[in-house]
Formats: sequence, structure tokens, C-alpha cells
Amino acid sequence: MAASTTVDSDLSPRMDQAGQSGPDAARTASSVAVPVGPRLHFDQIIQRSPVGMALIDADGLYRAANRSYCDLYGWHEDELLGRSFTQLFAPALRPTMLQRHRSFLAGEGSLDGEYDLQRRDGSPVSVLTESVRLAGDDPGEVHRLVHVVDITVRRRMEMTLADSQRFVQSVLDALSAHVCVLDDQGMIVAVNQAWRNFCQANDGTPAKTQEGTNYLAVCELAALSGTAQAPEAKAFAPLLREVLEGRRAEFQFEYGCPSPEVPRWFVVRVSRIAGSMPGRVVVAHDDVTALKLAQQALQQREAALLDLTASIPGAMFRLIARGGDRTLTYVSPGVEDLLGLTPEQVIADRGVVLRGIVPEDQPAYEASSQAALQNLHTWEVEFRFRLPDGALKWIHAKASPKPGERGETMWTGVMTDVSERKRIEAGLRHSEETFRTLFETVAQGVVYQDADGRILSANPAAQRILGLTLDQMQGRRSIDPQWHAIREDGTPFPGEEHPAMQVLRTGQPVRNVVMGVARPDQRQVWILVSAVPLQRNGQLEQVYASFEDITDRVRLESELRLQATTDFLTGAANRRSFMARLEAEFERLRRHADMSSCVMVLDLDHFKLVNDRHGHAVGDAVLRHVVQLMREQTRRLDMVGRCGGEEFAVLLPDTRGDEAMVLAERLRERVQQCPLELGDLRVEVTVSIGISPMSARDASPEAAMLRADQALYEVKHLGRNALHLAPAPPARSAADQ
Ligand code: GH3
Ligand code: MG
Ligand code: MG
Repeated sequence: MAASTTVDSDLSPRMDQAGQSGPDAARTASSVAVPVGPRLHFDQIIQRSPVGMALIDADGLYRAANRSYCDLYGWHEDELLGRSFTQLFAPALRPTMLQRHRSFLAGEGSLDGEYDLQRRDGSPVSVLTESVRLAGDDPGEVHRLVHVVDITVRRRMEMTLADSQRFVQSVLDALSAHVCVLDDQGMIVAVNQAWRNFCQANDGTPAKTQEGTNYLAVCELAALSGTAQAPEAKAFAPLLREVLEGRRAEFQFEYGCPSPEVPRWFVVRVSRIAGSMPGRVVVAHDDVTALKLAQQALQQREAALLDLTASIPGAMFRLIARGGDRTLTYVSPGVEDLLGLTPEQVIADRGVVLRGIVPEDQPAYEASSQAALQNLHTWEVEFRFRLPDGALKWIHAKASPKPGERGETMWTGVMTDVSERKRIEAGLRHSEETFRTLFETVAQGVVYQDADGRILSANPAAQRILGLTLDQMQGRRSIDPQWHAIREDGTPFPGEEHPAMQVLRTGQPVRNVVMGVARPDQRQVWILVSAVPLQRNGQLEQVYASFEDITDRVRLESELRLQATTDFLTGAANRRSFMARLEAEFERLRRHADMSSCVMVLDLDHFKLVNDRHGHAVGDAVLRHVVQLMREQTRRLDMVGRCGGEEFAVLLPDTRGDEAMVLAERLRERVQQCPLELGDLRVEVTVSIGISPMSARDASPEAAMLRADQALYEVKHLGRNALHLAPAPPARSAADQ
């Protein structure tokens, strides 16, 4: 050490002299022994020196000590001499210190330095010591001259400072912010753990941001770089410089950090520590990513909400009602589109809306809003609104109340344009009216039936055609036997087969079904029915049946049919239809070989005379009369046909020859006994009858007819008014079959 070298060179000679007289002094006085003359003078200087000095022998015992030294440790001068210097040290250190002392005297090591020692009363004292070797009184004897300076106060301050620095550091470290402290040159003098961690994890260049780095320089360099941080550094560095140079007290700066994984945001706060000397500046980076993300989410939600309110068709509003006061606090931008008024206009004067409502709708509007305010129930009203440009709109307004904290009610509502709906409603009403009119006035019968086939509704035409009132029809089902429905051919029409029931079963429309229905007044009506399914949401819900009254047409048709098959004069089957029926019967017989039928041919005797005597008209009447008698004498399944002028044929299915003979005889007899009576006129006629069995053995139905004709010829030949049975057909040879 430079100091100790100086002491060695400057003090050693004089202390050598002092050392020579040392033993005396140690023995006789509490002061260091100093020779007379210059020595006395020097001794006095030592005695009065504010620097504590002592002379310690090879055994560590005090040989001399000045007042300052004694005062420092709290000993009286006479008590100290002869004691070991190690008493100043804690007991545990004493052997070591004695050892170091001896080594020092032997020329090894140094004892210079700061020591924490204890005074006589045990109180701590810190000293800065320097020691030199001095030759003792005896040859070879070496002493140590030590001088000490009390540094207790400085040490305490140092420790306090260290404590406070530790405290500050621990406080810094506890901060989540990344903090560094700069000196006024921008040099980093302290950083906290968060700063260190962040720089290491993020930057990859920790050296740039550790203690001893010039942070300002780093930032200014970054500003000039081409990196992603450059723009932020460009903004940051000049501000930092202003704070460092004392031109600005602090600033705050937000920046994004291009982290490798996720985007992060920081707020850096730079502030000068007030009153710091030399100037100190704190740079704290706070990770505000979570906050930023939350803010962004909030902004997005707000934006979405704004979008939503803006995109809601119509306008949202909030109104606060307190007592009689009503104040609009919010109206969404949609009001401009809706009512042609800006939100500001509406908020400033609610009256602009009220005045736009057409006068006819104002009373209902006022009444509904009064009622809602009084009863605090949902307010809902529709009104026509005249826009500033003259256009008219239907507006639907709805708002719900929510009680506020101070007795007020908050109404949040929405107004929408329902003009289109109103237009559709009007159209619908119109079409409903049209439909209703059609339903009521159309000539066709229209009946709605539910999924069970029950009649729900029937129009007046249906009621008229079916001869039933709506009451009688409603609830009645197709399968109700009261319909007595028949088909065109007269066979029963079961309820399950009715068109409506078919539609319900198959889901398919059924068209143009002819159906005969008995009206309650016994009249038979014929209707042509079509039925279609009415579906809603893919479910068959109803059947719509429409029908027209075709009774006249059916009657006409059946008449035409009758005309085509019957003889106009007598009503008997005409020759064509008789022959067709005969053919069918023959076919039946061919399928059933064991069965047999008969054909009978009947001719009026001397009919020419009737015409001649009574005229043709009477002749006609006679023909009708005879046919009537034939009908009475034959069965329902027998068929009477007119084959020519006054010649008839009867088909007798499932009848043997003998049975046919019985019937023919009864008929012949009946004609003879029942003359036609026209007023006073009695016209008597007789008939001749030829009969032939018909069976599968016949080659054709005509063959049987021919045999019957031959039998008739026989009768005529033999005298008339009689009958004859032709022989059964011969068995057919294999060749005939
Ligand atoms: P018979 O058969 O017994 O041998 O004598 P007939 O007089 O009945 O014989 P014929 O068959 O020759 O005469 C049939 C007559 O029947 C001739 C014709 O004037 C008459 N006649 C045919 N069709 C009609 C008719 O539609 N109305 C009337 N009034 N007479 C008819
Ligand atoms: Mg005749
Ligand atoms: Mg004839």
C-alpha cells in the first residue's frame, strides 16, 4: 500500500529512536516514551495526535499508546499497557489475530485495513488501521506500531447505505415492471431481476442492457437500425435524452414488442428521481399485454356492439323517465335511416318524433306510452310516421322498463320499420277477402276436412248441393253412413274410398271422382269431386275437397246409355244389347259346363190385324202392354229384349227347359187373360212362344236362338197361342270344340 510505504520511509527512523526509549515509557508512563529534545517534541506531537497510535510487542502486549488510542477503545492509559491487543477482537478471532500479528512482525503479510472491534464497555467500534514494524529495545526484538482512525460513523453510514441499497434492490426486484436506473449520462447503474430476466429471455443480447451499458446509446443506435423496433426507438430516444439532460421530468411511452411467440405490449415510464445527486433516471417497462388484450377485446366488443346497434334494422333508444320528465339519453344512428332524423336531433327534442306521427295515430301512441309508464309494463305500439321528405312509414316501437336506483325508470327500446309487413298484411287481408268472397260465392262446393276426415268448414255452395246446413256438416266424417254414397254404376261407395279419405291415406291429390250422395230430402245428387292435401311444414293438415253438382249430367248420360241399350217404345232391351247379354251368358255357360239356361222367343199372333183394326198407336200400346206383362212374369235377372216389330226374346239364366216351359205357359196364359184396356176399348192378343235350352254344348248363342225360332215356327204352324220346347243341343263333337 502506498500509505504504509510512506509511513515506513518517513516515520521509521524517528520511531526507531522512540522505540529505543519505548520500554521506559511503557514502564513509567501512559504515554509513548519519547526522548528529550526533538524526541520530546515528537512525543508531544504523538500524544496530541488525533490519530490513535500504539506500540505492540512480539507477544501482542501494548508497550505504549497515545490518548487518542486509549480514548478510542475506552481504556485508561495505565490500564492498557501490558494488555494484549487481541482483547479488542471477539474471543474467537483472538488466536488468529495474534498469529497474524506475529507473522507481520516476521515480515509476512499486512494487518492494514478496516476492523470491526469492541471497546472496553463492549460497544462496537470500527477502525482503519495501518501498521509498521519497529525495532525493539533488545536486539532482535521487533514491535508493531499501529495507528488507527475511527471510522465507526462512516461504517454505520456505509452499512445503512448498503441496507438501503439492498432494500431498494429488493423493492426493485419485487416489481413486476422491468426497471433500470440510469445515471445522468444514460449509463445503467442498476437493474432489477425482472429487467434481467426479460432482457435475457427476449432480446438475446443481455450485454446491451446490463449495468455498465449506456442505455441511451443503445436506444439511439436502435433508432438508426433497420429493425422492427426502430420507429419506437426513434420516438423514445430523444425523449429519454430530454429527461437525462433535465429538460423534461418524465414521460410515458407505449410500444409493442416483437416477441418471437406472441405480440406483447409495454408501457415504459421514464422519470428523474427528484433531488437525486448525481442525477438518476428510472426507466420502468411495464408489461401491459394482458391489459392491452383486454382493452382490445373490449374495443372489439364495443365495436361489435356499435356495429350491432348500427346494423339493427331500425333504431335503438334509451329513455329515462323521472316523475313527469322523460329524457332520451341514447338514440342509435339507425334513426336517421328510419325516421330521417339524426340521433342528435331526436335527443335534443323528443318532440320531433311525436310531431311526425300522423294525427290519427297520435292518441293511441300517447295512451299506450302513458299506460306503460304508469304500469311499468312493456310498451309496444305501431304508428304511421311522416318523414321529413314526406314519405310515410309504419313504425313499430317496443320498449321495456327497468327501475333505476333513484326512483327513475330506464326504457330501452327499439323502433323498426314495419311498412313492408303492413303492406303484406293488407295484401293478405285483401287476398283473404278475395278468397272469402270466392269461397262464399263460387258455384262449386268447397269443403275443408281435418286430418281425421272431419269437415271443418263448407261454403254455401256445398251446403246447397248437399242439402245440409253448415252445422249439420261440421264434424261429419267421410265414413259417416248418412252419406249413402254410391258409385256411378249404382254400387255402394264405402266411406274409406271417398276422395278425401284417399288423400289422407296417400297424401296425393284425387281428381274427378263421380259420387252419388243421398240428400236428407231423399233426392239423389251426383257430384264430381276432387280433393287435394293441404300441407303445413311438411305435415298433412287438411284436405280441401271441391265438387260440382253433376246430377243433371249423370241423369242425361244414364238416359243416353239407356237409349243406347233399350227399345224406345217398350223399354225392353234392344236387339243389340239383348244379343250382347246373350253372348255374356253363353260365355258364362262355357265356364260352367254343368249349368244351363234357356232362351224364349215370343211373337204376337196376327198382330197385323190389331194395327189394321185399331190403328198403329193402339198397336204400339199393345206392344208396351205385353212387355209389361212379360216383366211381371219374369225374374229380375231374366232379360226381356225386343228383337223385331212384334217379336220379343227372353233370356232365362240358370233355367232348365221344363222350368222355362212352366214360365212360358204362365206368360201365355196371362197375355190371353189380360187384354189391353183403353177406355171402352178392349184389345185382346195372344202370343206364340218357342223355347230352347242353351248350354256350353252350343256352338254359339245364335244356335240356341235359332232353335227357339224354329220352335216358335212350329207353334205358329200348329195354330198359335201355344208354346213349344226345342230339343236340347246335341253333344258337340271333338272337332267342333
Ligand atoms: P203371325 O205372326 O201370327 O203370323 O201374324 P202377324 O200378323 O203377326 O204377322 P207379321 O209378322 O207378318 O206381321 C207383323 C206386323 O206387325 C206387321 C207390322 O205392321 C206390325 N208391326 C211391326 N212393328 C210394329 C210397330 O212398331 N207398331 C205397330 N203398331 N205395328 C207393328
Ligand atoms: Mg206375329
Ligand atoms: Mg212377327
